[in-house]
Amino acid sequence: MTSGGGDEGMIDVDAARGAILAGIAPLPAVETPILDALGLILAEEIVAAEDIPPFRNSAMDGYAVRAADLAGASHTTPTRLRVVAEGPAGYAPRGAVTPGTAIRIMTGAPLPPGADTVVRFEETDEPTRGMASSSARAPGEVCIGIAQDRWVNVREAGEDIRAGTTALPPGVPLRPAEIGVLASLGRATVRVHRHPVVAIVSTGDEVVALGGTPRPGQIRDSNSHTLAALVRRYGGIPRPLGVARDTVADLTTTLAAARDADLIISSGGVSVGDYDMVKDVLRAEGQIAIWQVRMKPGKPLAYGRLDGVPFLGLPGNPVAAYVSFELFARPILLRQLGHATLDKPTVRARVTAPVPNGGGRHHFVRALVTAGPNGPEVRPTGDQGSGILTALTRANGLLVIPGDNEGLGVGDMADVILLHREQGSEIPRANQ
Ligand code: AMP
Ligand code: MG
Repeated sequence: MTSGGGDEGMIDVDAARGAILAGIAPLPAVETPILDALGLILAEEIVAAEDIPPFRNSAMDGYAVRAADLAGASHTTPTRLRVVAEGPAGYAPRGAVTPGTAIRIMTGAPLPPGADTVVRFEETDEPTRGMASSSARAPGEVCIGIAQDRWVNVREAGEDIRAGTTALPPGVPLRPAEIGVLASLGRATVRVHRHPVVAIVSTGDEVVALGGTPRPGQIRDSNSHTLAALVRRYGGIPRPLGVARDTVADLTTTLAAARDADLIISSGGVSVGDYDMVKDVLRAEGQIAIWQVRMKPGKPLAYGRLDGVPFLGLPGNPVAAYVSFELFARPILLRQLGHATLDKPTVRARVTAPVPNGGGRHHFVRALVTAGPNGPEVRPTGDQGSGILTALTRANGLLVIPGDNEGLGVGDMADVILLHREQGSEIPRANQ
């Protein structure tokens, strides 16, 4: 093949994404302490072994009584009951409620046998917390100033989760509430898809690792750090391998440390320049499936496998590397983590400044989405050169212009990928 001959063919963003994801599966499940499982995807069905709550209990601080004893009671004509016991939370009931008696009970304490309703302190002559009482409070007695139905202020055993039912299905993301449900069921550990380990390599004779001093003609390696941050943000474990020289030999040696990773990401060296060696290494040592995607920024992009490990060769320009990561690496990571939804949330917004397009490539424009009087508005954040990383720091979205679109004018509507919104933050449709 001639160098830069486009032998694998340039393809569209969606086709590239589809081809890449077809070969990616969730990683094996590992038993993990529940707090470390935060943000990961459940890889087992959680069936409740017990009722939650485990026993019928009081929802209020007050008196456990029999509803039948309260007929006709009011603040002016209270019912007088004999208090036969105290029921603090954390202990089995001490005694039972029989006609004409009450047990003083705290929130969360088991409902004593015989009781069928709980009257809160506010409806009794409980000192300082209760209704004003005309008569002096007799020792060992309580006046109840309300009539109420059975099972008021009572929490049933199993009203949250019934023993034998599915508390959490496999595939759900573990958020703080799910962590709490696991703990309430006595689970200290849980099976989740493990974090992908992502090897990251920068390429280029001009690229100097952070901490080194660039000589004339050299620049610092920013891509390794941007990409490591993206990997960590999306649930991967970055394994930075440093900077490889622009030779097949050095790149091959550097990549040797990546062969047990779950994904390899390189940046630079994937275009049609004299020193672009990534494709050569991939061809010689592995397989290359995709080269060049019809998008801007970032046309140069290679995808293949090295020793069976998925390999994504991103462009060197910092913005192109970032955008290509969002479009291709992020869905790989999410699929490996077991996520069902791989798309980043988008919003439809009204364009408030012209956005030119040309060249027939899908254009991802660094843009700022704001809340306008009639819904979301969007405008580009300045120079769109693929090395202008600061335009990305001012952006919160990527405005998408399809390849066949000549550009957008003020008032047009556009889809914007929201860069800093995550899985699970979408607002579900009403019928979901
Ligand atoms: P390349 O794709 O290797 O031709 O690189 C394209 C542009 O991105 C060149 O200007 C490189 O100097 C720059 N570049 C490549 N790698 C990095 C990196 N790791 N950090 C910052 N800029 C880079
Ligand atoms: Mg280079």
